[in-house]
Amino acid sequence: MAQLSLKKIEKTYPNGFKAVHGVDLEVRDGEFMVFVGPSGCAKSTLLRMVAGLESISGGELAIGGRVVNQLPAKQRGIAMVFQNYALYPHMTVFDNLAFGLKLAGTPRAEIQARVGEAAKLLEMEHLLERYPKQLSGGQAQRVAVGRAIVKRPGVFLFDEPLSNLDAKLRASMRARLTDLHRTLRESGRPSTVVYVTHDQVEAMTMGERICVLKDGTIQQVDTPAVLYERP
Ligand code: ADP
Ligand code: ADP
Repeated sequence: MAQLSLKKIEKTYPNGFKAVHGVDLEVRDGEFMVFVGPSGCAKSTLLRMVAGLESISGGELAIGGRVVNQLPAKQRGIAMVFQNYALYPHMTVFDNLAFGLKLAGTPRAEIQARVGEAAKLLEMEHLLERYPKQLSGGQAQRVAVGRAIVKRPGVFLFDEPLSNLDAKLRASMRARLTDLHRTLRESGRPSTVVYVTHDQVEAMTMGERICVLKDGTIQQVDTPAVLYERP
């Protein structure tokens, strides 16, 4: 079954601008899907509709087999990682990771276990007592990813999460995120990813399949090998 299913998805903004034109797409359970395309092609609009941060003007959106068009963001079983990761400056890394779970009333032992697991996966167990201002850019971005992991969402949504990092760090974070995805999948954990980027190299190195967007429509959906390495 598709973990994420978009059927004839449309978006018209309140000003009348039609940003998305009948998008059909299925993302398989555990798949790493990248949305790529130039600025303005509607990558972010699509992701925000999946996340529940933007209303859907037409079509049907299903997550885990359930139609979620009218469902609030919190109930969709998704977690989103933004470019601007905005950690809480007055909280330790541990508390930044734990915050959402505490709000949701998660038992203390469960919070400890999930934060511990995320910290291990992201190799940041030694950073748990630090404050955000004591972290490097890459470390802070790992905490932002950790905040998504502790939620154990059905689908991870990434909106250009590495574009604020310098080139070297970006390359190492790409590898880290693809490793993390593989580790989660191999351990049987929910691991479906939709990753938005305007960077073709990022798309090619990270995506298992790539959805190429242009002016609010899908041009092509295929593996990197088929899209970029065809003779
Ligand atoms: P991308 O993420 O690929 O850069 P966006 O999804 O941000 O593209 O935007 C897609 C199109 O929708 C662009 O033409 C953009 O100007 C337009 N758009 C985005 N947000 C709004 C809005 N709130 N109102 C009207 N048009 C918008
Ligand atoms: P609160 O007082 O908000 O309930 P806790 O009692 O859970 O917070 O934690 C107190 C402090 O101990 C927090 O600031 C947190 O950084 C730290 N802490 C708690 N559990 C761990 C852990 N497993 N590893 C590292 N630090 C932890």
